[in-house]
Amino acid sequence: MTLFEKAPAKINLSLDVLDKRNDGYHNVEMIMTTIDLADRIELRPLEKDRVKVALESRYVPSDERNLAYRAAALFKKEYNIKKGVHIQVEKCIPVAAGLGGGSTDAAAVLRGLNKMWKMDIPIDELSDLGAELGSDVPFCVHGQTAIARGKGEVIERLNPPPPCWVVLAKPNIGVSTRTIFQRVKPGKLPHPDTAELLTALKNGDFNRMCSHLGNSLEDITFSVHPEVERIKEKMRQAGAEGVLMSGSGPTVYGLVQHESKAQRIYNSMQGFCHEVYLVRLLG
Ligand code: ATP
Repeated sequence: MTLFEKAPAKINLSLDVLDKRNDGYHNVEMIMTTIDLADRIELRPLEKDRVKVALESRYVPSDERNLAYRAAALFKKEYNIKKGVHIQVEKCIPVAAGLGGGSTDAAAVLRGLNKMWKMDIPIDELSDLGAELGSDVPFCVHGQTAIARGKGEVIERLNPPPPCWVVLAKPNIGVSTRTIFQRVKPGKLPHPDTAELLTALKNGDFNRMCSHLGNSLEDITFSVHPEVERIKEKMRQAGAEGVLMSGSGPTVYGLVQHESKAQRIYNSMQGFCHEVYLVRLLG
């Protein structure tokens, strides 16, 4: 039996860094939603008790460093499973882009193995297990739209945002989340108005949502990679209604209500940026 699992990318509608914890991580508050840009994960049982990952990518290793591999190894260890699995990863989400590509692959493997090995593990337990792999994995296990607190492991589901188009623009650079967090000085960061954004989502108010998107990490990434700020400016000039950098960057997205306008913005960003995508929210 071969099992397919979709692994959608996420965008941050907000990312707030609250304070630094004693364990070295930061407490965050992040509203995230999934988008229709996805990797495809194919799981096949193996006779031998081993994990094998296959993928074609210049940027991502297929050995035990791969998050899909680590998710399968963790799942096997946690539930003492002596079976093997072959994982084929078809990567469509850009790597080190702020779109949670590795985290969503890991989450899809956890969900997929739960089905393939008929384990019936509740989603919250899978999400807690995912927290051992990375702070965006719990959100990706749930998908849709949610606010993540703590290190990212405390998940509360939210109403989906009003339907709209998403233009994504990624310059030809990768950003290491760890490097950006190392530059964080908690007392000196701007903070998004998360309460306003939550109200906008609750009321399905697109304009209010767009005017309260916010990301505490933007200025740090802009100072390291000024081209990201230029892309944000360009996206705004092109007419996107809400514009923000996702995660620690470098991808900038624009939210647009009408398809014809979204298509125009997509075209104009293509003349300016290395990789541009036009997708819908899934959230
Ligand atoms: P986030 O938004 O969660 O911070 P990101 O989108 O910025 O993540 P990823 O695409 O997850 O970043 O890649 C970060 C690093 O993880 C890369 O250096 C990559 O080599 C490594 N990695 C390991 N496994 C995977 C995977 N399955 N897909 C993508 N990257 C992976």
